[in-house]
Amino acid sequence: MHVTRRRSAGRPSQPRTDTFTGEVWLDPVQPTTDGTTINDVFFAPGARTHWHHHEHGQILIVLSGSGLVCPDGEQPTSIESGDVVWVPAGERHWHGAAPDSYLLHRAVSLGVTSWAGQVADQEYRPGVVVSDLSGLPWRQSPVRAQA
Ligand code: MN
Repeated sequence: MHVTRRRSAGRPSQPRTDTFTGEVWLDPVQPTTDGTTINDVFFAPGARTHWHHHEHGQILIVLSGSGLVCPDGEQPTSIESGDVVWVPAGERHWHGAAPDSYLLHRAVSLGVTSWAGQVADQEYRPGVVVSDLSGLPWRQSPVRAQA
């Protein structure tokens, strides 16, 4: 057994850019142990993951805020504080904040995560004209990873 302390000196939140769109911060909760990785992920409004899948699936526990999850070929579904999402092994999907709310979720990822391309605005908000997304906060002040 091992207890991981959530906040400890020398472990600041990490800005994430490579496989995310918008402003995203990640706190490792538990480093990969027996193939299971636990992270808390904060998405600013409009921010989301790239398309990806998890080797053995993923559990998303919404801790605060509102967001969206979307399996490939379906419409985005709203998620709220207290919701739990099970993503089956190998299912291509994305998740992130709602357009008008931040999202904080705890992600329990099973096995290797495989990343693909970014989620286009039309995939994020089907039926919304792309120019309508220009007011999202992360478009006005993009976050850059600090060295
Ligand atoms: Mn996922």
